[in-house]
Amino acid sequence: MEILSYYSDPYCHEIEATVTSVSEVTSDMKKALKVSLGLVPDPVCAVMFDRTIFYPEGGGQPGDRGFLEVEGRDLVIADTHKLHNNVVHGEPSDGGEDCPDSDHGLGIVPVHFVLCNPDEINLGTVVKLKLDWNHRYSFMQEHTAQHLVSGLLYSMFSIGTVSVHLGQDEFTVEVSEPEVSDEKMLEIEKAGNDAILSADEVSCNFVSHDEAESLGLRRSIKVDTDVRLVGIAHRDCVACGGLHVSRTSECRILLYMGQEKIRGNVRTIWKTAEPAMNMIHEEHSIIRSLCAMQSARPSELVSKVKDITENLTEERQRNSALRIKLAEHMIQSELGGGNPVVAMSLEAGSIDILSFAQAADAFTDLALCVISEGSDKELWLILLKGRYEQLDFSLVRKKLLSKIGAKGGGRPPLFQGMAPKMTKAEVEKFLAGFIAMAGAEHE
Ligand SMILES: [Zn+2]
Repeated sequence: MEILSYYSDPYCHEIEATVTSVSEVTSDMKKALKVSLGLVPDPVCAVMFDRTIFYPEGGGQPGDRGFLEVEGRDLVIADTHKLHNNVVHGEPSDGGEDCPDSDHGLGIVPVHFVLCNPDEINLGTVVKLKLDWNHRYSFMQEHTAQHLVSGLLYSMFSIGTVSVHLGQDEFTVEVSEPEVSDEKMLEIEKAGNDAILSADEVSCNFVSHDEAESLGLRRSIKVDTDVRLVGIAHRDCVACGGLHVSRTSECRILLYMGQEKIRGNVRTIWKTAEPAMNMIHEEHSIIRSLCAMQSARPSELVSKVKDITENLTEERQRNSALRIKLAEHMIQSELGGGNPVVAMSLEAGSIDILSFAQAADAFTDLALCVISEGSDKELWLILLKGRYEQLDFSLVRKKLLSKIGAKGGGRPPLFQGMAPKMTKAEVEKFLAGFIAMAGAEHE
């Protein structure tokens, strides 16, 4: 049985411990790792110690990671899970707000997943366990802020918490309501920041099951042994086996980020501490750049961008109509009152080839072939309209397109595709071939 030092001193970063078990990972453990890490590392082994400061995944809080210093060498501890009656629990990423180890961790054995082969660690070795403190502390802050939000939801609006999720950057609280207003959530945000400002003590006490039941907590108790109660001054008290900061001021700030619908409930989204500050700085810098670009104040940005988008849409429509007109004019000038068979090549960066397809609406009879020079390939378009509809495209493909290695197709009257890059002479020859073929077909 490991001594769970993370409960007695959640701020301890490093501890000496003795290896009590080293083994291959079981198929249960592999499944649990796949859920928490998204993959099963290789090599990896399961290690236990006589004591640990590594919190095993539970109650929505991820397992700790860090290093195992053994004989002067740092081995990575990628994750920590718990064995309950010899079974590893793979927590769903979106767990209920109940911590199954709110019973003081009775029957729980943290198992550490170390990135090495089992024969690299000897039983009985004294090692140093070193936490990835930033990772752990960030979740202690988040977990405390989540208690604060759930507690305030309950005390201010009688809204219960259905499930919570603690993530790298934000946490969510799913509430037992089909709808909640943003105004209410902003009131929670304000009350939460007031609690942060007053640096409330976050307490952990063990009481008997009966005593806990008599308190009428906002959430039912999931264990039948003694209960670990986590309280935030007068604002919240709940049974929990997770790790928290010792004062609310360590959360620094609470931000309401919005909400989404889930299973007929509302899931509210929150940020606290460093991720909240990082987001404020990042978004502020984006807004400052946009304001400089537009010579606008932040409050004017939305209407400015709306104007720009509308203007752009109108400009694009005008531009497209002009390109079609230009293509129509180009076809017309090639026709010159003669046979309605036109073949032409377009230089790179000039009018787009599809404007020619749309320009063809203005003509009754037309056999049109356009080649457009791309950077590493040619685009081709063939249009057979009116009396030229009888011209067999498979013949065009066989006699002309296959010779230049062209790919593509279509259905009457429009065919289009790509071809490998051609020299100017090859393009001329191809276009002349089309004129000859379309002309001859119709004599
Ligand atoms: Zn908790």
